[in-house]
Amino acid sequence: MTELTHWIDGKHVKGTSGRFADVFNPATGEVQAKVPLASKAELDAAVESAARAQPAWAATNPQRRARVLMKFVDLLNRDMDKLAEALSREHGKTLPDAAGDVQRGLEVVEFCIGAPHLLKGEYTDSAGPGIDMYSMRQALGVVAGITPFNFPAMIPLWKMAPALACGNAFILKPSERDPSVPLMLAELMQEAGLPDGVLQVINGDKESVDAILDNETVQAVGFVGSTPIAQYIYSRGTANGKRVQCFGGAKNHMIIMPDADLEQAADALVGAGYGAAGERCMAISVAVPVGDETADRLIEKLVPRIEALKVGPYTAGKDVDYGPVVTAAAKQNIARLVQTGIDQGAELVVDGRDFNLQGYEDGFFVGPHLFDRVTKDMDIYTQEIFGPVLSTVRAKDYEEALSLAMDHEYGNGTAIYTRDGDTARDFANRINIGMVGINVPIPVPLAYHTFGGWKKSAFGDLNQHGPDAFKFYTRTKTVTARWPSGIRQGGEFSIPVME
Ligand code: NAD
Repeated sequence: MTELTHWIDGKHVKGTSGRFADVFNPATGEVQAKVPLASKAELDAAVESAARAQPAWAATNPQRRARVLMKFVDLLNRDMDKLAEALSREHGKTLPDAAGDVQRGLEVVEFCIGAPHLLKGEYTDSAGPGIDMYSMRQALGVVAGITPFNFPAMIPLWKMAPALACGNAFILKPSERDPSVPLMLAELMQEAGLPDGVLQVINGDKESVDAILDNETVQAVGFVGSTPIAQYIYSRGTANGKRVQCFGGAKNHMIIMPDADLEQAADALVGAGYGAAGERCMAISVAVPVGDETADRLIEKLVPRIEALKVGPYTAGKDVDYGPVVTAAAKQNIARLVQTGIDQGAELVVDGRDFNLQGYEDGFFVGPHLFDRVTKDMDIYTQEIFGPVLSTVRAKDYEEALSLAMDHEYGNGTAIYTRDGDTARDFANRINIGMVGINVPIPVPLAYHTFGGWKKSAFGDLNQHGPDAFKFYTRTKTVTARWPSGIRQGGEFSIPVME
């Protein structure tokens, strides 16, 4: 049994709390490692030494910091297969999907190589007689990121790369379900030249999260995970005077207009609904065909595609479309919600309940499910299932489809399939959701744009990656300077005004 560690001051460090969590191989159901759960004392000590390492890193010029990230990109590419394999083994997603998880994180590191440019301030020459005014973006100090299980490479990279590029020290508290890849990322950062202590990986659960939120040295916290925890972290962190951004759960609708290319829409729905076993915050979990005829035609196209999905372990390589869900508890929760769908009157068109994979009976596999005639009051519609379950809600017209998505409490992503530019444009303008796809099912913005939902899918006012990340991980200082003769002319006793 492997005993995992923390990463503190450039070394693997064993946990001292005496508490551990099991890390499973979701494909077999076996416990493959135990991960230490840090105590408050362990977290506080890691923050303290990060605070000692941070000033020298902040004083390193941004070009040199960017060079560490350049080297890090090379190392991520070098170790891509190794990282993907470790990721699949703990998460369960397929190898190509795991490589995509690393790749979408790597792209944010590439963006952060532009730090010298992104950190430039503003300058006003001669704002007054002999007066110049300029702003600087300065690192916050020690900042922290708390990340979910479903993207164990991408989301830690979305947090650590901009935080470090800005000159902060970064404490990562990854998900206790799949902590190995974050530890590997820390090793690669060291190999790339990051000074020890500037990046600490502290494994843990609520105790270490609370310790982060209460630690006075930690200046900012970035969180990604479920909405109840996002809300909790946002309120406790901000009450303690920290800068906090929290990204939560989702229920992403795809609207299919009668004029859409239904072959394309069906392909998109299958990929976006069942890819990664539905464990993506940008997964499409609700299909909204407009009009009964569109709905009937869509279901007809979906059923054979869903029935043909290949579910299996990542070790089966290209023969698998999606793998197991992350834990037995996740599997049970999906089964429970599917049962509420049946009990509350939805029509289960594809029934994945009896799915069984020979040789992997103890794995956390869930067969694909498709519901039709789901209504707004059902639990499978109101709650995030986070599994391979797609719900179809039939809308009589465009306005009803639009208001379904608008009225839902989550607002992470959405998509519309149509051939009509006017409808697509109206949708993009009116929808109250952060990320919109037009004939694109999973509209995750690229690294140089920003990622973030609206409503109960995000708390705080800045998005992840892109230029927003550089605002989140720095504070602005504005300097007003007068050189050189003002003082020689004597003091001023009334408030200075621009002449
Ligand atoms: P989670 O909320 O259970 O855990 C996220 C993090 O919070 C983990 O590091 C975990 O250790 C910690 N945590 C869990 N319970 C806690 C508690 N009671 N107190 C303090 N900390 C706690 O989420 P998850 O199951 O790992 O991830 C899946 C969720 O994340 C889904 O809801 C998904 O939609 C969401 N997600 C959102 C985005 C986004 O950008 N909006 C991206 C990915 C995932």
